[in-house]
Amino acid sequence: MAQPQLVNQGTVVTTADRLVPTAMLKDQWNMVKEIVATDIGASHGKSWIDPLELLGLDGMVLVLGSPNSFAKDWVENHYLEALVKAWKQVNMVIQGVTIVIHEQKITVANTNSEITPPQSKIETFDSFEKDEPGSYTGAPLDNRFTFENFVVGKPNELAYAAALRVAESSTPQFNPLFLYGGVGLGKTHLMHAIAWKIRTCHPARKVIYLSAEKFMYQFVRALRYKDMVAFKDQFRAVDVLMIDDVQFISGKDTTQEEFFHTFNALVDKNHQVIVSADKSPSDLENMEERLKSRLGWGLVADIHPTTYELRLGILQAKAAALGVKMPKEVLEFLAFKITSNIRELEGALNRILAHASLVGRSISLDTTQEVLRDLLRSNDQRLTVEEIQRKVAEYFNIKMSDMVSNRRMQNIARPRQVAMYMAKQLTSKSLPEIGRKFGGRDHTTVLHAVRKIQELCADDFDFANDVEILKRSLQT
Ligand code: ADP
Ligand code: MG
Repeated sequence: MAQPQLVNQGTVVTTADRLVPTAMLKDQWNMVKEIVATDIGASHGKSWIDPLELLGLDGMVLVLGSPNSFAKDWVENHYLEALVKAWKQVNMVIQGVTIVIHEQKITVANTNSEITPPQSKIETFDSFEKDEPGSYTGAPLDNRFTFENFVVGKPNELAYAAALRVAESSTPQFNPLFLYGGVGLGKTHLMHAIAWKIRTCHPARKVIYLSAEKFMYQFVRALRYKDMVAFKDQFRAVDVLMIDDVQFISGKDTTQEEFFHTFNALVDKNHQVIVSADKSPSDLENMEERLKSRLGWGLVADIHPTTYELRLGILQAKAAALGVKMPKEVLEFLAFKITSNIRELEGALNRILAHASLVGRSISLDTTQEVLRDLLRSNDQRLTVEEIQRKVAEYFNIKMSDMVSNRRMQNIARPRQVAMYMAKQLTSKSLPEIGRKFGGRDHTTVLHAVRKIQELCADDFDFANDVEILKRSLQT
């Protein structure tokens, strides 16, 4: 037998026999978990810190065991600092924290297909489309929904990393992967991306992607054609099963039952299951308790609502992919105003492009606001001109009343112009409407202000910086 050793990278570690945590250390670990949970939030604590196992103290370095390399990487990248800080707080001796992979059944992180399970049949999605009894399964893939086309930001980084990991690994590290988030935030995109990636990385693996609705439809059809055996066999023979929008399975008792059995059969055989829904497992309504809890066993990764930065990033990526040049202010305006979801954001961009090519005019903030008037109204963030005036006045330390006054000293007139510029950039109000809010000024005055501020921003770095800070503070 090889000596147990402490290894830091990707290997099975059997340090447990060597490092034995003392009772005191165990108590301290419980305290550390509490401290870290208050620091990073209870749900993150539960997902990432609780699964860690206290292995012991190696010199002055505390050793924690992680169930798999994905969790290890994630904790190292996101929570290591919090862990070290908390440990130092409860035990002054401790100088650092090391995370090792502990008690993992199978070594992983092998992305080439040499060790794929013996599969004789390579099925493509296209062959699944035959709509006849005896052939169940998938839906076609959208070729735009790839990892390369997925823009990563804070709200979706976990879901992205988990999806990529699932696609690259030949053995499941967490099962199932449960992706959830509101509509239009990228769940389907990620699932297709997984399927595309597996097709190239592991062409021999059999992947099925389908919506929960289609799963139910096929189930019902199998019942009608008395074809349940084929139905079951087909699903249970896959390496990776992806079911999109699983919330639609709720309620239908027999389908839930069948889904549950299919699910168990695959997970027991160590085949990967990936599920998406609009809610977390525990929040799914009309779903049996045992199914809910089973769905939460693996990694639950939520996609949060978009941020301004992510929306802007997506718009830039889409514009670049389409090869169109869009004015920066138009992209910023869209990212600011269309906050509902990414599908609507794309819709808005497409409408503007369609309009521009139809009327043969270049894209400006004005045309954008005109073309999207109805959409903008429903996405209206209700940022008012008054709010803008107040923030700008505060920032430049002038009186609110000077926003509407006739005073022309530059230290007052300039902030007023900034406020007019912001109103134009950040609300869908027209120039005359804005003018009226500034003590009944003419629309040409507002236009002049907008141009003046743009000029100054281009020339004066410090000024541009002030404007940028203000814009951001108004956009949160
Ligand atoms: P969901 O399934 O969560 O309702 P989708 O996956 O259908 O949402 O995404 C809606 C649209 O937004 C799709 O066109 C998708 O390509 C796009 N999209 C979503 N997230 C991203 C992202 N992070 N980067 C690029 N495009 C995205
Ligand atoms: Mg979807």
